Amino acid sequence: MATLAVTAPEIAFSVVIFVLGCCVGSFLNVCIWRMPRGLSVNQPRRSFCPRCGKPIRGADNIPLLSFMLLRGKCRDCGAPISWRYPLVEAATGLLMLSLYLVQRVGGGTERGQVIAMGLLCALLVVASAVDMEFFIIPDEVSLFGLLGGLAAGLLLPGLHVGDAPHHTLRALTGLRAMDGLIGSAIGALAGGGLVLVFAVIGELIFRKEAMGFGDVKLMAMVGAFLGWKVAVLTFFIAPFFGLLYGIPLLIIKKEHVMPFGPFLSAGAVLVMLLRSTACGWFNRYVTMAGELVRAIFG
Ligand SMILES: [Zn+2]
Repeated sequence: MATLAVTAPEIAFSVVIFVLGCCVGSFLNVCIWRMPRGLSVNQPRRSFCPRCGKPIRGADNIPLLSFMLLRGKCRDCGAPISWRYPLVEAATGLLMLSLYLVQRVGGGTERGQVIAMGLLCALLVVASAVDMEFFIIPDEVSLFGLLGGLAAGLLLPGLHVGDAPHHTLRALTGLRAMDGLIGSAIGALAGGGLVLVFAVIGELIFRKEAMGFGDVKLMAMVGAFLGWKVAVLTFFIAPFFGLLYGIPLLIIKKEHVMPFGPFLSAGAVLVMLLRSTACGWFNRYVTMAGELVRAIFG
């Protein structure tokens, strides 16, 4: 593993990445508010206050800073601005910075793949924030993401084809792009299929919906981008994030209904950042399980 020299240009560039991430987060906030309300994401261009309807001035639209300067209130009518705005901006900035730093330290990730992961992170932020409030994941996000993941597999075969532990295929058709697309499709089927199977079993046992079809589509998207191994690991890590949030929620608010999308998203991001190490372990267990089966039945 290469070491990362902490130099002034390196720090300056990291700050730039964080600030750009916050600006992306600012746009994601627009999607998060408008999509579940059936409004267009780009019309009207200018954001407006949901209470007084006045357009937000350019100077009041600076990620993170404006929220602090306005002390979380609309300049015109004083209506409180949701904490979601600075949280989404900061989270997106940190996600983009983490992606950049992980690929800087680990090296070897091609630029296109880092961009594809950045896009996936942005989609997961929107899906999570909407799911938290409305208990739905907009189809615009998951279906666009599913197609985006398949396109990424086709255009960036290195996502799914090769020798790294996270890869799905080494060679199948001889055409790397085709193998990349097949890798994406296998990932989508594995991610979506796994949630679907558990959702059906859960409904039969508990007689109520634990996971919805929105989660199926969300995990199909994750699998299309990152392959079946990341999708499987994500699915089994997500409940731990769910418990961290769900237990306090149950104790403090006596609330036991919670969305699952944000925890799937958190799991996906964690596995994505550590994908080679995580999939390395995973491969070892799969090999061990294979040997065990052979020892028993062979
Ligand atoms: Zn207002």
